[in-house]
Amino acid sequence: MTALAALVFAAIVLSGLLNTYLDWRQAAAVRAHRGAVPGAFAGTVTLEEHQRAADYTEARARLAIIEAIYDADLAIIWLAFLLRPVFHFVAAHIPAGLTRSVATVVLVTAISYLLTLPFSIYKTFRLEAQFGFNRTTPAMFALDQAKAAALQLVLGVPLLYGLFALLRALPNLWWIFAWAAMMAIMVAMIVIFPTFIAPLFNKFTPMAEGPMRASIVALLAKCGFESNGLFVMDASKRSAHGNAYFTGFGKAKRIVFFDTLLEKHTSDEILSVLAHELGHFKFGHVLQRIGESALLALAGFAILHWAFAAGTLPAAFHLPNDPALVLIIVMTAMGPFGSLLAPLTNFLSRRAEFQADAFAKSTVGAAPMISALTKLSRDNLATLTPDWLYTIFNYSHPPVPERIAHLEG
Ligand SMILES: [Zn+2]
Repeated sequence: MTALAALVFAAIVLSGLLNTYLDWRQAAAVRAHRGAVPGAFAGTVTLEEHQRAADYTEARARLAIIEAIYDADLAIIWLAFLLRPVFHFVAAHIPAGLTRSVATVVLVTAISYLLTLPFSIYKTFRLEAQFGFNRTTPAMFALDQAKAAALQLVLGVPLLYGLFALLRALPNLWWIFAWAAMMAIMVAMIVIFPTFIAPLFNKFTPMAEGPMRASIVALLAKCGFESNGLFVMDASKRSAHGNAYFTGFGKAKRIVFFDTLLEKHTSDEILSVLAHELGHFKFGHVLQRIGESALLALAGFAILHWAFAAGTLPAAFHLPNDPALVLIIVMTAMGPFGSLLAPLTNFLSRRAEFQADAFAKSTVGAAPMISALTKLSRDNLATLTPDWLYTIFNYSHPPVPERIAHLEG
């Protein structure tokens, strides 16, 4: 084994072990605190609800352990054993060239998808169902998967052709152009997602006239916020989890409320959730996110450029030097390094959440936000006692007890 291959395998194993350890810590932390509701929530969360949240969190952490071990094994098996026969199978049917490279990536992606499908099925129909969240039927699940796969093929295949053609035409500068194209596509996706892609999966109904809509419009006006419409999404058709979000840019922004959120919250709580989302816009968090992704993508393309130019990466795994194989090896190897970056990106995201909460507090007061967060965490069975180290690596939002402490402070 070459030093390069050894380094990649070591990174996969270490990141698998790290994730397993973190999931184990999370399971242990919620089990240790299962017996009593934390003091600050004694009046709002019952012991039964607290214990259901503990059981749900522990069940997910246990599944995540199996998944982390499975994913690491799978990555090693791909690199050491599986990539070669799959590539030779494609090479036997398609002559060397762009189509061969594209077909290799598509086939590897399809096999990887099938190998991880059992986890999605188990999560949806066992774990989520066991805790009363799942509302998806097997037919709806299959249709969702088929639509997502079709979408990936329609968008992904032309992009792969473009990437491999660019690589061939401009071997030294391709990565700068590919990065610029990727950023343009990302922005375009943000623009077309709400009107063209999201409706493939859910129904969006303009919010009905009435007192709720009137107070939302008043809050938007108070904050000087322009939007292209208020919509209610039929999230309840798949899951009982509640949420609200914004999509789009500029005046084309849409505000989307999950019907599950509207059902279970008072109008003050809904306004506080909206004010929190407005806070994200006020502070420019969306642009910050795009900036972060742009930096990470640039680093990713620079690594890919190095790997293509060096031409030694496939040989390190005893594979032929086809650009498709370089791409797959880099993507597989980058996963473990990505999990080392998670604390930084999650830290930035948690900081943004605190800022948005502070904005909501200054707009509608702390009380409705606190009761909305308490209800959301209770209804989504979010644990009130997560492990601190697990939080650093995995929480994009601060744990609810910390958010409430900030709101009260
Ligand atoms: Zn937020």
